[in-house]
Amino acid sequence: MRDWLRREPIVIAEGKGAVLRDVKGKEYLDANSSIWTNLHGHQQPRLNAAIQRQLRKIAHSSALGLANEPASLLAAKLALAANPGPGRKRPELSRVFFSDDGSTAVEAALKLAYTFARRSGRSRNPRFLSIAGGYHGDTVGAVALGHIPLFHKEYSGLLFKTDQVMAPYCYRCRFNRARPERADAREYRRCHWECVDVFEKKMLAQSRRGNPYSGFVVEPLMQGAAGMIPQPRGWLRRVAGIARSQGALLIADEVMTGFGRCGVPNDSLFASHQEGVRPDFLCLAKGLTGGYLPMAATLTTSAVFEAFLGEYEEFKTFFHGHSYTGNQLGAAAALANLELLEDPRLMDKRVQLQASMHRELQQLWKLPSVGDIRQVGLVAGIELVRDWRTRQPFPVRDRAGIRVCEAMAKRGVLTRPVGNVVVLMPPYCTTPAQVRRMVQVLSQSCHEALH
Ligand code: PMP
Repeated sequence: MRDWLRREPIVIAEGKGAVLRDVKGKEYLDANSSIWTNLHGHQQPRLNAAIQRQLRKIAHSSALGLANEPASLLAAKLALAANPGPGRKRPELSRVFFSDDGSTAVEAALKLAYTFARRSGRSRNPRFLSIAGGYHGDTVGAVALGHIPLFHKEYSGLLFKTDQVMAPYCYRCRFNRARPERADAREYRRCHWECVDVFEKKMLAQSRRGNPYSGFVVEPLMQGAAGMIPQPRGWLRRVAGIARSQGALLIADEVMTGFGRCGVPNDSLFASHQEGVRPDFLCLAKGLTGGYLPMAATLTTSAVFEAFLGEYEEFKTFFHGHSYTGNQLGAAAALANLELLEDPRLMDKRVQLQASMHRELQQLWKLPSVGDIRQVGLVAGIELVRDWRTRQPFPVRDRAGIRVCEAMAKRGVLTRPVGNVVVLMPPYCTTPAQVRRMVQVLSQSCHEALH
């Protein structure tokens, strides 16, 4: 906070496409999509028009005991998107609960899963498992599910107990030395999915204690705030199968990974589908409105929904609702966002962006301070290390990630690090030339700040 007070802040005044402009007229590339929210760029004409059209009708009316058209249409569209492929007739994730942001989307899933586990007789004392380094938001329930000591330790006295299991962090795998990207990298052993064995043991041990986990919470394919840690192909499918076999509900936090951020190899917008995994809860926010307005959705199954049905005096309803739930402006933006995501020309552009990111990022391998480059779809994390041969990290007090991002900002590229991992997550409208610029600036900034 002292650092923030010492410095003149960059005050953003406007934006267009992938470019932000500050009050002094200086332009910046929005290299982290305004903290992972923006999908199609700023001032996107179709998104602007959709919000303006809705504004001429109404901005907001309560969804407590009332419905509205855009939110209802959005719920139907989300249910379709969450259940892709043939057999759409019986969607599994057919129920949608709206809230405001990623934290509340997770909070709602947690409370729904808790009550469902109790009412369905699965557990009297539901317990949840999540991944080491996981981040699911800053509200107290979401913090309890998270495992980043720097953010979460301070509040330990406020939190309920959850368990964590190791992340499949290949670059720092304690079993193997996976993916020897550099010619003289150390010997590595083949992966035998030891991390999945650890997961299975954890699950089985809890079941043996007579209170199997009620829910397993996971960011599919890529853990974001943990440091952009991708899961090796097959990991999610394996652990999801194990969790299910032990009766745990699968809670997919796709707040960051959703809406095509993890790539477009098939007809699905969600990362879990790339592994053929259908979760019991799907938590969405950030990109839901194309990064325009705060809105979130928690999708779940009819089975969960039905646990909250009852006569008035049974008080079985889900006692949870926010003032801006189902906000019309947000829903109008989200509907326009889904249309843009379906546009085949824009889909091709995303494929090209993914390829140009991959191409450009390769040049960073030659930097001695770059230990690992991790790209999943349109998200990349570049891990800075003191010594790439030993993978020795920079100590936290060196502020390596922060220093590099400050140098990048001076050169007109904005992003934020997570620890010593620099994030590149450009909006989908970013051109190949803009990607090149982002990567060149990152490279120059590493030289300036670290070497
Ligand atoms: N889950 C994940 C995976 C996230 O990355 C974030 C935010 N970075 C959240 C939840 C919380 O979202 P919000 O900041 O909108 O509350």
